[in-house]
Amino acid sequence: MRKEFLPFARPSVSEEAILDVADSIRGGWLAMGAKTIRFEETFARYVGAKYALAVNSATAGLHCALMALGIGPGDEVITTPMTFAATVNAILFTGAKPVFADIDRRTLNIVPENIERAVTKASKCLIPVHFAGMPCDMDGIEAIADKYGLAVVEDAAHALGASYKGRRIGADRGARRLSVFSFHPTKNITTGEGGMICTADEELAEKIMVLRQNGMSKGAWNRYAAKGSANYDIFFPGLKYTMMDIQAAIGSSQMKELDSFNRRRAELAAFYLRELDGAAGIILPRRAPWEHEHSWHIFTPFIDTERLGFSRDEFMARMKERNIGTALHYQALHLFTCYHKITGKGRGDLPEAEYVSDRIVSLPLFPAMSDEDARDVVAAIKEVCQC
Ligand SMILES: *Cc1c(COP(=O)(O)O)cnc(C)c1O
Repeated sequence: MRKEFLPFARPSVSEEAILDVADSIRGGWLAMGAKTIRFEETFARYVGAKYALAVNSATAGLHCALMALGIGPGDEVITTPMTFAATVNAILFTGAKPVFADIDRRTLNIVPENIERAVTKASKCLIPVHFAGMPCDMDGIEAIADKYGLAVVEDAAHALGASYKGRRIGADRGARRLSVFSFHPTKNITTGEGGMICTADEELAEKIMVLRQNGMSKGAWNRYAAKGSANYDIFFPGLKYTMMDIQAAIGSSQMKELDSFNRRRAELAAFYLRELDGAAGIILPRRAPWEHEHSWHIFTPFIDTERLGFSRDEFMARMKERNIGTALHYQALHLFTCYHKITGKGRGDLPEAEYVSDRIVSLPLFPAMSDEDARDVVAAIKEVCQC
């Protein structure tokens, strides 16, 4: 058994990033400034977005995106139950109602036909989540959005570096289309905490620029800017969601490493797929049939609980005894007390999400993981599953 505990995720932050953070602190400019703008420009170029706007988390980014779209009380926003609570919390804090449409257990992503069944007169927006970094069926989703005049906010927290039909997630998709990335330490790049909103919609981009700083037009280059003085105006109330230069310094350095990080993630995923192929008790992730590139944010097989005779939680406990960390992404959201009460959905209503929720587990996957670490994970799984 391995001596040291292997966590399921660990960030890799370079010495260059540490020096650039120190430079910001010594220089006395800590909050949003030139380094944030540099990070936004690098990010926009990388994903192919017209605008990339940095915020202090993806949760803030989702909230800002929905606010900019004018989503509010009386509106419905359709999303997946197989996501982090932030996706739904952002909807709730606009005053709108979240509506769950079930996923497909093979892709872990929301299914366009289920979205269409959930559309009502109150529907305003769709939030697909590119689960694990495998892009959703965006053609199918956008066909429904176009048919019913809905906005689309992609929750791209897992999908930095992923692409759909030859274009990166985050690349321009037209008016009332946005995507939101996360830089939490478990994600494909980190800024400690942080997020990025991408869009090609100039009006929305301008709104987000003021929404993220209390509605202040100061420092905004846009239609909300007060003319010719140190004064500023406020056209609508905002929140304080700006990124700090300290965070952006880390982000710019991480962007240089992103492709090599993602290559290593893909290598490790390929190793798991090869080494666990045919292992009894483990059901491996599958690839969606549409053309895509996976960003392998997490590697999430199912535990075949019927075959093994014990639960996923028991599997996780047995892995921990062997010094291997695992994680749960996610417990289906309609099974939480809060979202169950709000949506009225309970066990039995979203069977695919429930099947996944009961069996899914995230294995260790991060760029600094060694081949030996990966072999330890496979060996522990084979021992736990006795195969
Ligand atoms: C991590 C995550 C978020 C929230 O990101 P933060 O930056 O921590 O706010 C939202 N949605 C999904 C799917 C995530 O994985």
